[in-house]
Amino acid sequence: MSPDESVGVAIIGLGRYALAQIMPAFAAARGCHIAALVSGNAGKAKRVAAAYGLDEDRIYNYENFGDIASDDRVDAVYIILPTGLHADWAEKAFAAEKHVLCEKPMALSATECERMIAASERAGRKLMIGYRCHFEPYNLRAMELMREKALGDLRLIRTAHQYRTGMATPAENWRLNRALAGGGPLEDYGLYGLQASLYLTGETPESLSAYTLQPKNDPRFQEIFAHASTQLRFPSGAVAQLATSYDSFGMNAVSARGAKGALVMEPATSYSGNAMVLQTYGARETLTPGTSSVQFAQQLSHFAKAVRENAVIRTPGEMGLRDIRLIEAIYKAAASGRTLALNADATLKD
Ligand code: NDP
Repeated sequence: MSPDESVGVAIIGLGRYALAQIMPAFAAARGCHIAALVSGNAGKAKRVAAAYGLDEDRIYNYENFGDIASDDRVDAVYIILPTGLHADWAEKAFAAEKHVLCEKPMALSATECERMIAASERAGRKLMIGYRCHFEPYNLRAMELMREKALGDLRLIRTAHQYRTGMATPAENWRLNRALAGGGPLEDYGLYGLQASLYLTGETPESLSAYTLQPKNDPRFQEIFAHASTQLRFPSGAVAQLATSYDSFGMNAVSARGAKGALVMEPATSYSGNAMVLQTYGARETLTPGTSSVQFAQQLSHFAKAVRENAVIRTPGEMGLRDIRLIEAIYKAAASGRTLALNADATLKD
């Protein structure tokens, strides 16, 4: 591929995930390159630009971002900002006629997601959500095993995504701040469990119930929930139990059980070193379908190919919207203490 065909991507937000996972992955990605940086911290942006061999005229800030519209070196942006900023920045990027790869969770509400999809359609530009597990060898193999019915009919999925967050306030850590993060660990870490239940069943739930807990007198949880626990029932009869927490000992696990066997993944959705065991009556096999850490480069390559060839995106805005609808329904079920019925598009039945 000639350099002219490579998709130029501007990184918006030079935080931990951008710097430690995404930017280094461009070296192994196909058909795209870092073309510009957008940051509110000029000193950091200069240092990062120098480290990646980018001239300083490729650095934008949040005020002069509009100028990127006339920068032909930039075809697309990757939004790696706190969640509460995703919708506005996606709209700004589409207004500048750039394609958008946006980190998960897509946004804070279904209304925001719908705005982002509408802006993408108006601009005629791609919108992809950074659901990296759709590019990760263990999760891809797990999806394949479910399609092959390796466990027989799927009965039960259990997911746990939890860790203990450090002592901080909503002003100090945006993940504890409702305006920037939403309701808490469910949108952030728990979303991996919700996603896994959807891509392993291949279904959208028909009903759900949930509990949330917001401890009193803990500075971390003034604005958000500390724990969320959800049960989903799928049209096939499969049930999923999802647990997520910002205040319990770390765990990252997904298991699926059917009539014929079980698939146990732990860690299930990590950046690297995922592990997976397939058990059937009389057999126990450790599966090693690949190297987990390729997921970042694979995700970038997929986005670049979709932009270059106008191809279908595996994790489109509509998937992000579906998940935010489910998260809204989970909070509603927890607040009401009722089991709520859902339509096939994850909207609530009245
Ligand atoms: P960080 O807090 O490390 O970085 C966020 C960056 O956003 C900051 O460094 C800053 O960059 C910029 N920013 C702009 N406005 C604000 C603001 N008001 N408060 C805080 N930061 C601001 O967050 P992460 O990198 O961990 O997360 C960023 C996004 O990536 C989130 O959407 C998160 O959900 C997602 N993520 C996804 C992961 C995955 O595995 N797919 C893993 C981790 C995060 P600057 O100084 O350059 O302006």
